[in-house]
Amino acid sequence: MTMSTVTLKPREDIRIRRGHPWIYDNEIASVEGGPAPGDEVRAQDSRGRLLGFGFFNPASKIRVRIFSHSSERADGDFFRGIFSAALDWRKRFFDTETQSFRAVFGEADFAPGLIVDLFRGSSAAPGCWLSTQFLSLGVARRREAIVAALQAVFAPDGIAERSDAPVLAHEGIPAFQGILAGSVPETIFMEENGATFAVDVAGGQKTGWFLDQRANRAAAARYARGREVLDVFCNQGGFGILCAKAGAAAVTAVDSSSSALAAAARNAALNGVADRYATAEANAFDYLRELERSGRKFGLVVLDPPAFAKSRSAVEPAYRGYKEVNVRAMRLTERGGILVTCSCSHWFDAARFDAMIADAAFDCGRRYRVIEERSQDLDHPIVSGYDESRYLKCRIIELG
Ligand code: SAH
Repeated sequence: MTMSTVTLKPREDIRIRRGHPWIYDNEIASVEGGPAPGDEVRAQDSRGRLLGFGFFNPASKIRVRIFSHSSERADGDFFRGIFSAALDWRKRFFDTETQSFRAVFGEADFAPGLIVDLFRGSSAAPGCWLSTQFLSLGVARRREAIVAALQAVFAPDGIAERSDAPVLAHEGIPAFQGILAGSVPETIFMEENGATFAVDVAGGQKTGWFLDQRANRAAAARYARGREVLDVFCNQGGFGILCAKAGAAAVTAVDSSSSALAAAARNAALNGVADRYATAEANAFDYLRELERSGRKFGLVVLDPPAFAKSRSAVEPAYRGYKEVNVRAMRLTERGGILVTCSCSHWFDAARFDAMIADAAFDCGRRYRVIEERSQDLDHPIVSGYDESRYLKCRIIELG
């Protein structure tokens, strides 16, 4: 079977040559060979030179997603190859036999739209389970081959799918949640940074646990000893519980989701810190305002909000949201106290984020020193040319 060809307009190849894997509909001069939705196509520049092989989706603005520069077919062999390479990368930085980690990070691992998190049960309840999201037509159509390749490379006890993200609508594919292979327990007890966390892979947000913050949680906990800690947007308690384990005087954890807070409280109990751990179900913006009125101060505040900027056009409103919550957090931080502030929005880049922190401090008449400038953990690789892979920012500052 000969392969269909997508030819780009002049000059539209440059971004692709630099490593960006998406070809948009308006960058294409012609499509030859009548590819079916999800088929592999050969992408070439206006002079016929090869750019790569990608998945074709006529329903999406992202018309082609490049998966390889050399393999024409995204078949079982192809996926086994990229999953093995992805595992080799993680083996360099993690103990993949005992730790949980993001096993496949979409485009950054040459699997456009495929997210796979691997959860390992602690020694008390051992096992290995995968939580997957198929977020592009190309990978959704190849579910069977991908599941077989995941089994061959990671040998999990079960594979769950949680493709409930809103991006699916842009790809023209239906959401799906269920078990793809084996069985997955309702709750997985995993270890991270020396603590035990119960992760609900079926019901939790995204894929169940925010693995990208692993190293930042450990970093934050190093400042916690003896301090009163406020963990805002705590989800299932990761930051605050590690702070409590590291000797925080007390932790207040805030989230608007009652199920996340129930999980956080359970995790606090699992780690023997429930007596120093309190949860508050509230809108963070309102809650911080109330705390301010009460006059309470904290020695360490963690801010890990959801992505306020989900697109380029949302950067300005996001700036206001981030700044407001950072101003409020700074006002609650005592002199000499620590603020751990994060943004997981790719569109809100590091320069903007740092400028926002400076503006927030200026607005409350505070000065600060930057102690640590951090990013996402290494199982979420940052790759050249694909700037979307660079998304998480975490700053640890000391406020004067
Ligand atoms: N810090 C967590 C991850 C935070 S994810 C970790 O380390 O795992 C963002 C969290 O913000 C989610 O749990 C979500 O429920 C919560 N959230 C979103 N909007 C909120 C709001 N306005 N007020 C309080 N919590 C909110």
